[in-house]
Amino acid sequence: MSVGRTYLDWNATAPLRPEARAAMVAALDAAGNPSSPHAEGRRARAVVEDAREEVAALVGAKPAEVVFTSGATEANNAVLACGWDGIVLTGIEHESVLAPARKLACDGHARVVELKAIDPRGVVEYGADLVDEAFACDGSDGGPGPFRLLSLQLANNETGVVQPLAAVAEAARAQGLKVHTDAVQAAGRIAVDFAALGVDYLSLSAHKLGGPKGVGALVVRDGARLPAFIAGGGQERRRRAGTENVPAIAGFGAAARAAADDLASMHRVAALRDRVEAEVKAVTPGAVVVGADAERLPNTTSIALPGANAETLVIALDLAGVAVSAGAACSSGKVGASHVLEAMGLEPALARAAIRVSLGCASSARDVAAFAEAWAQVTHHLSARQRAVA
Ligand code: PMP
Repeated sequence: MSVGRTYLDWNATAPLRPEARAAMVAALDAAGNPSSPHAEGRRARAVVEDAREEVAALVGAKPAEVVFTSGATEANNAVLACGWDGIVLTGIEHESVLAPARKLACDGHARVVELKAIDPRGVVEYGADLVDEAFACDGSDGGPGPFRLLSLQLANNETGVVQPLAAVAEAARAQGLKVHTDAVQAAGRIAVDFAALGVDYLSLSAHKLGGPKGVGALVVRDGARLPAFIAGGGQERRRRAGTENVPAIAGFGAAARAAADDLASMHRVAALRDRVEAEVKAVTPGAVVVGADAERLPNTTSIALPGANAETLVIALDLAGVAVSAGAACSSGKVGASHVLEAMGLEPALARAAIRVSLGCASSARDVAAFAEAWAQVTHHLSARQRAVA
């Protein structure tokens, strides 16, 4: 990161890990095509397969269950495009789940219901009859056909709130649904075990855990349906055609290995995140930590400052040298209240006043001190201006 800057936007993207950079640089010289049978091809193939093992190991999956993609957006889209009769999801999902699901509903290709039962902490409420209830409320006659999917994120990108996924997945599977989880923000921050979660599909993105942008994976349970989502050659077991992005995949593998090693020290990141919240409370006691009472990722906090505007706070903090984001800033430039905070029932004015501070394994006490100083300065100016206007 640049000198004098404090980067606290790891949920938007994590800085490239040195291990990932080294693996990518080395892979740039792997001359062969992984599909070629000659020595050069076999060398490139080995790079891809080693990375597949590392990615699988990070989430407790088998290497054969990992399908490399161009990122989690593609992985999420691929799952939703499997030809489901009915899809159940929540309003707190990432846009890369919500948008394709809404399009399927709009085009009449699937019955899609959004569970409204998100408690004020941001945790989904579920019951044994979750699916029947959901489809009973969607205004159509009868249930959808038998091919049904529940998609529930493991952890939220804005609040860090972790969902009781294993329990929800069990309930959904008991009702005959397949289960997908977007585990993009959870992987590398908390232990993720594909098999123990009881899900059929799991999406990952390399750049959230210190790998390069533009590569990710869909983990698919053995035997779960996944038609080819990019047609062409036979790559990725005929699911995703196209010559593999070998350097990016190598970087993903190295980042996954390093992230797995770093999991043991995430309590240090959690302590830094707690200090961010304590500093905020000390300076602005009225600030609200969204989802504070729920189980959360160790690295994420969503802080709403009543009376403030998140965009203004982000710009002011940026000028003070600190990078954070307003709501979901992956598609930056987006203005307006976050759909996640709205779905949690946060009052709209408060939802528009929420910033996200997200840390990572390289964050330090110095970063927290720089943030605290900038926060004090920015909020002081803000309240002086508000007093002047009043
Ligand atoms: N899901 C979640 C929860 C995310 O935070 C993101 C990244 N903003 C994505 C999916 C999309 O990932 P990618 O950038 O790899 O397409």
